Amino acid sequence: MAGPNPSPCPLCGTPLTESPHSCTRCDWVQPEPTTPDTSRWIAAVLSLIPGAGHFYKGHFLEGVALFAVAHLLILPLAVVLMPGTIGLSLLVVPLFLAGSMAHAFLIDDYRAKQRQGGWGGIHKFPATAPQTGAPSTPYETRRAS
Ligand SMILES: [Zn+2]
Repeated sequence: MAGPNPSPCPLCGTPLTESPHSCTRCDWVQPEPTTPDTSRWIAAVLSLIPGAGHFYKGHFLEGVALFAVAHLLILPLAVVLMPGTIGLSLLVVPLFLAGSMAHAFLIDDYRAKQRQGGWGGIHKFPATAPQTGAPSTPYETRRAS
């Protein structure tokens, strides 16, 4: 089933005749397509709200941390320092946003990995706590008093 036009190996240029995912001449293997581009861009755009892009990709702790740092540290600091720095401190905000957007863009998509079943995440935990004791009956026996 080898195609008539095998794409060349990006490392050595050998036509990838046997498999398009690995090279027979050098040790090149195609990187796993873990994160589709669409989810990268969605994560980056969501990061206009600091942490939202990280949440989107399943990085919940980092998302919370970014949100907290942005609102409890970066924003107040920028405002407090504004008079002394002729407003230059406000530049920290877009810089921080750009940084978190870039990071959200680059990090692995945990949720995609979960969907592929390749990541033993929180969904592996039991959905409910084990039931202890006898289940309560819908028809309570009334005590004769
Ligand atoms: Zn090669």
